[in-house]
Amino acid sequence: MLCKICKTKGKREKAVINLRHHKLALCKEHFIEWFEKHTLKTIEKFKMFSKNGKIGIAVSGGKDSLSLWYLLTKAGYETVGIHISLGIKANDYSEKSLELCKQMAERINRPLITFNLPDEFGYPIEKIAQLSGRDSVCSVCGTFKRYIMNKLALKENLEAIATGHNLDDESAVLLSNTLRWDTGYLGRQYPVLLEKGGFARKVKPFCFFTEKEIVSYAILNEIEFMETGCPNSEKATSPVYKQALALLEHKMPGTKLRFYKEFIKKARPIFEAVNKEEIKLVPCEKCGTPTTADVCSVCRILEKVKNAKSREN
Ligand code: SF4
Ligand code: ZN
Ligand code: ZN
Repeated sequence: MLCKICKTKGKREKAVINLRHHKLALCKEHFIEWFEKHTLKTIEKFKMFSKNGKIGIAVSGGKDSLSLWYLLTKAGYETVGIHISLGIKANDYSEKSLELCKQMAERINRPLITFNLPDEFGYPIEKIAQLSGRDSVCSVCGTFKRYIMNKLALKENLEAIATGHNLDDESAVLLSNTLRWDTGYLGRQYPVLLEKGGFARKVKPFCFFTEKEIVSYAILNEIEFMETGCPNSEKATSPVYKQALALLEHKMPGTKLRFYKEFIKKARPIFEAVNKEEIKLVPCEKCGTPTTADVCSVCRILEKVKNAKSREN
């Protein structure tokens, strides 16, 4: 298969990727160009951030976040990587993830802020989940990651926190929320979450790219990333929704992109309007983070951990 753009210029360059849902086969040079142009278009369209502020990239060591950090720096944004080390020992997951983030920081010559969760909160994430009596490590992990990212964004005066969420992630979340008709979440799902009442702005510049497109971008740019996922991801439910969507995508290319884009355009404004009522936020009694209850969810989990530990002793 030949590159479609090269063909229009009378050149015969072999395509390295065939984007079935865009009916576009591209060579290395034109794929990288296409990918970067579309990222910048998404940033502009959703007014994600500017070139005047500092952008924090939540880097896990995976393909999405490292590619995003690399691309935004290349495009001239002032970036800083933020990595939360969770203390996950299996497969040396946390150690290897940190190493890959450091490697990227060195390559693009940008600072990396590292937050070591066991050092700061006393235990690795799995132990915190276990001691707090929660079944799902991932839901505790998500709560802590959001909390820490927000604190760091405010401390570092960041214009926004950018995450590497891709189309596969976003369409899987959308499918899960739709199957439950969770109108609250459906009203909030969007490429940008504006700053509000002590919460930093969060943006997803890769939300229209598939995993395959991002892996290709990473490989073509020789970005080293964690090829195995977090050992706890097997217990997560999102792979089930991803599999269902992959089947639909295989039979009908473009399904995922249509599902997500049309949701944003047509359905999300309806759910947003339904949930117009402002949620009242108050500072957490213990740490000051904005919360709907007297004490925020992280402080509540830490309290349970403390109680469980004192019962053990
Ligand atoms: Fe955290 Fe779960 Fe993701 Fe692992 S898979 S990093 S435990 S949310
Ligand atoms: Zn080409
Ligand atoms: Zn708190």
